[in-house]
Amino acid sequence: MLKENLDHVEEEIRKACERSGRSREEVTLIAVSKTKPVSMLEEAYGLGVRVFGENKVQELVEKYDALPEDIEWHMIGHLQRNKIKYIIGKAALIHSVDSLRLAEAIDKEAAKQNTAARILIEVNVAREESKFGLMPEAVPEFVDKVSEFAHLKVEGLMTIAPFVENPEENRPIFAYLRKLSVDIAKKNAHNTNMSVLSMGMTNDYQVAVEEGATMVRVGTGIFGERSYAQTNAR
Ligand SMILES: *Cc1c(COP(=O)(O)O)cnc(C)c1O
Repeated sequence: MLKENLDHVEEEIRKACERSGRSREEVTLIAVSKTKPVSMLEEAYGLGVRVFGENKVQELVEKYDALPEDIEWHMIGHLQRNKIKYIIGKAALIHSVDSLRLAEAIDKEAAKQNTAARILIEVNVAREESKFGLMPEAVPEFVDKVSEFAHLKVEGLMTIAPFVENPEENRPIFAYLRKLSVDIAKKNAHNTNMSVLSMGMTNDYQVAVEEGATMVRVGTGIFGERSYAQTNAR
């Protein structure tokens, strides 16, 4: 099942790239493995998957320790400041930075570990009450402030689009995030580049790729339904 799912997602990404005149290499598929057992990740690894996404610190660290070293781990979930120390040096990219306090705490921990943490800024494009992320209009000033931190590298923006029946409904959301990133890139802030656009999940990654996603985060479409009452995935 995993192989068929992966092949399908891969094919859909390829087709979306083709439709939008992009090269397949511009898009990284993040296999979102949250709640799934290590054995399933090993199977995916055997099929060539090297980029995994997790939304909980403890789970990321446990899987990091259990799986081969050439995996790139992405922290895609809301992050509590007291847990940052566990993932610095383990997470290749933190997708969910949405407050100065959090940015400051990541900077401090990265400094302690003598490294620079790569981060994305999470934007609540759809202004959903239930979601984390900065309001879009707050992002430019936030980027200015965060660019002052010596141990942070801002690599781009991330959004979690609303859950919709028809993925086309999210097209304006993705287009908006892309425009925002282009506008910010023009300002050339120190320590900042806007090369990453993390957007699109199982329901809508094809549309996200058409609108310029450089990373799509696909869980269910690869690993199947998660068996828990979801509280924070969307
Ligand atoms: C769970 C999760 C995903 C993957 O969701 P699917 O709909 O299963 O593809 C993507 N991004 C974030 C932030 C998540 O928490």
